[in-house]
Amino acid sequence: SVTVVGSLNEDVLVRVGRLPGRGETAIGRDTVLAPGGKGANQAAAAGRLGTGVVMVGRVGADPAGERQLAALAEAGVDVAHVRQIAGSPTGSATIPVEEGSGENLIVVVPGANAQLRPADVDVDPVRDAGVVLLQLEIPLATVTAAAAAAGGTVVLTPAPARPLPPELLARVDVLVPNEHELVTLAGAAPADRSPAELAGLARALEADTVVVTLGARGALLVPGVGPTLLQAPPPVRAVDTTGAGDCFCGALGVALADGAVPSEAVAVAVTAAALSTTGAGARAALPDAAAVARLRRE
Ligand code: ADP
Repeated sequence: SVTVVGSLNEDVLVRVGRLPGRGETAIGRDTVLAPGGKGANQAAAAGRLGTGVVMVGRVGADPAGERQLAALAEAGVDVAHVRQIAGSPTGSATIPVEEGSGENLIVVVPGANAQLRPADVDVDPVRDAGVVLLQLEIPLATVTAAAAAAGGTVVLTPAPARPLPPELLARVDVLVPNEHELVTLAGAAPADRSPAELAGLARALEADTVVVTLGARGALLVPGVGPTLLQAPPPVRAVDTTGAGDCFCGALGVALADGAVPSEAVAVAVTAAALSTTGAGARAALPDAAAVARLRRE
C-alpha cells in the first residue's frame, strides 16, 4: 500500500498574450480550474496504477475542496484522511501561461495545507503503509513527523527546493529530486552536468538511494551501494510535462510497494511519467498499469 502525505491545491490556469511585469495588468482568457498540488497529483497517479492508495492532507470546506476530494476518489484514492477544515481555504496555485512561449508564473497560496500539523500525520495509514510519499508543500515539521512515523519505505520529493533538516534526510530511503533540486540541495552552482557528475552530487547527500529525474532524458538511479543506472524514457509525443515528476513519484511508490527492486521501479516510473506527458495538464493522461505494461513490452 502507498500513503501520500502532502498538499492538495486547486490550480487556476489562465492564458495571457504576454506575462505581466511588476505593476502591470494583463488581460487573460480561458480560465481553467484543475485539481493539483504535488501531494494530490502523486496520489492520483498512484491511485490510477495501484490499489490501497491513501491521501493524508487538508482542504477547505469550500467548493475547491469538494472538487479535489471528488477528483482523488475518482482516481481510486482513499480520502478518509483528507479533512475539510473550516476557516482556511483550499490551497491554490494561480498560473498565467504565456501563449507561444508556454512560459508561466506561479503564485501558490498554501491555505489549508498549512494546517496539516505533525500530530495529524501520526496515523495508521502512515505507520502501516509499505511506502510513504512526501513532498515539501506542507509545513516542514509535518513532513519530518510523517517520515518519523512511517513504518515503511520513505520517498521524498524535495520540491519546492529548500534546505532539509538532517533528521529528515536521515529517515529518507529514496530521495527524488529533479536536476534543479539536486543542485540546490547539494549547494552546487547551476551548470550543465553529465550523469556521472550528477551522480557525484547525489552520493554526497545524506539519503540512502537518490533518483534524479532528468526530464526528456529519463531518470538516474544512484543507489547507496552499486552502480548508477540511467533509464531513458520510451519514445512518446510529449505535449505537456506539467506534473510528470509527480506521476513519476506516484508510479515509483506503487512499484516499490509491490516489491519491485529499485531499477525495476525506476523503469516503471519512467514509462508512466512519459505516458503522463501525452495529455494536457497534470492529471489528464495518468496511465493505468495495463498501459504501462503495454508500452514496456513494445
Ligand atoms: P519535474 O517535472 O519535477 O521538473 P522532470 O522534468 O525531470 O521533473 O520530469 C520527471 C520525469 O518525467 C522524468 O524523469 C521523465 O521520466 C518524465 N518526463 C519528463 N519530460 C519528459 C519528456 N519530454 N518525454 C518523456 N518523459 C518525460
